[in-house]
Amino acid sequence: MHEEPLHLFPSEGEPGAPSLREQLKAYTGVEVEGGLCPVCALRLETEFGGDPERFPIVRVQFSESRRVGIGTFAPSDPKSMSTEQLTGGVNFKLLETYGSDDDPRALDWAGEFSKANRGVLECIEFLKNPKEFLVEFLTLSQERQFKVPKFGFIDADIVLLAHTNESEFRQRMADPTNEALRSRLYTIPVPYNVRLTDEARIYTKLLGQSDHDFHIDPNAIEAASAIAVMTRLAPYPNLSAIEKLHLYDGKETGEFKLNQLPEIHKQSVREGLDGIDPRFVIDALSRAVAETEVEQAASGRRPCLTAVMAIRALRNSIERSHQIGDEAKKTYLALLTEARQEIDRQLKDEVRKAFVPAFADTAQHLLENYLNHCEAYCGKEKVTDPITGEERDPDEKLLRGVEEMIGVSENAKDGFRSGVLMRIGMWLRKGRPLAYNSDEQLGRAIEAYLFEEMKDIVRITVSKRSPDTQHAERLNEVIKVLCDQRGYCPTCSSELLDYVGALLNR
Ligand SMILES: [Zn+2]
Ligand SMILES: [Zn+2]
Repeated sequence: MHEEPLHLFPSEGEPGAPSLREQLKAYTGVEVEGGLCPVCALRLETEFGGDPERFPIVRVQFSESRRVGIGTFAPSDPKSMSTEQLTGGVNFKLLETYGSDDDPRALDWAGEFSKANRGVLECIEFLKNPKEFLVEFLTLSQERQFKVPKFGFIDADIVLLAHTNESEFRQRMADPTNEALRSRLYTIPVPYNVRLTDEARIYTKLLGQSDHDFHIDPNAIEAASAIAVMTRLAPYPNLSAIEKLHLYDGKETGEFKLNQLPEIHKQSVREGLDGIDPRFVIDALSRAVAETEVEQAASGRRPCLTAVMAIRALRNSIERSHQIGDEAKKTYLALLTEARQEIDRQLKDEVRKAFVPAFADTAQHLLENYLNHCEAYCGKEKVTDPITGEERDPDEKLLRGVEEMIGVSENAKDGFRSGVLMRIGMWLRKGRPLAYNSDEQLGRAIEAYLFEEMKDIVRITVSKRSPDTQHAERLNEVIKVLCDQRGYCPTCSSELLDYVGALLNR
């Protein structure tokens, strides 16, 4: 049991003379507590004639896998559990050799207390242990001793590291019969993670370990992570859960700034101590994957976990959970709806971005058109119609239609237009080819404008079984962009289009 070598020094000496242990203390200042285990005590007498200096000492290195100084214990089925798992017991093979079950050499020393001696013992789901096990732990922490039947108390020096969940902890600690246990505990709250990026890493890792073959839609994990983290966040005045989520992740999306985080943390005492845990989320996602495997097996396509499926799976799991109280359920479902609105926006954005490359010629044409009219407007000139050669006023409707997409107001339009012309001019002077997104702001406006126009195409195409060929071709281009550039697979890209199409039809 990785015996303490200083236990070799006896605490009793010749009558009237100080013991070796007392001499040791006087000489070195080291106080030795406890005594040898029964085996070492027997060996000291029988093999080494009671002389501590003849007793061989070995150096050990802590190792969890070899069970040296680091033990772990988790309760199992109460019927098959025995306190000998902690204390060790009689080894019946050795019993044959030594003939008596109180010969210490017949002890197996395989109990966790012996393995963890002079180190740490990690107790998983500590409070789920039956009472008689808790008594063993309590004796160990109070007396620093444990008992094997037929033997005296054996000294052990172990840091017990126990974990449990908060509700179980509160419930058990409220029971007055657990007073002794409570007074021996030093409690450390361990909150759930509240950073979106870190949460996503948990699910990426766990889903990656699955031996099933499936694709994960690039938004699925973030969607599930966002919902999970949001249920853990403490409310804060004038800060929505979504904004708090992003702020904790290092992004300023609302009025609050990152330098306000310390103040926000101070006000959010119970943060991370409530909410749904990663296991709950992973269970929900795994079920969703299993369902899609069945669905896709019929069509011969590779199964895919999409964002929409992830959200639906979480909603179902929350609604059906027996562990979540009614009040919490209501809160979580409201947060899920809030998260969903944000995710819907992201998905629309995703489709919008994919549309533009598929409609690159249209985007280029729109850019040229906009610049022509913009230039004419700023120079107070007319625009020449390329077909009829007629002179016309700049098309204000077209100009405003594009500008309104990114919130340029009527008062700000003059500034915006001259700004665009100036930046584009600089771009061209550097000899760069002109693309619809050469100017960042105008690029965003053109994307949004095109998407507004394309909306009808998406709407019509996804709602019809057989869209006309030209539209179908364009949609295939969009799907190709999603797959080649955005990490989608054929399954989730066409589902994304269906979903966004349905959103637009509302
Ligand atoms: Zn020993
Ligand atoms: Zn996919």
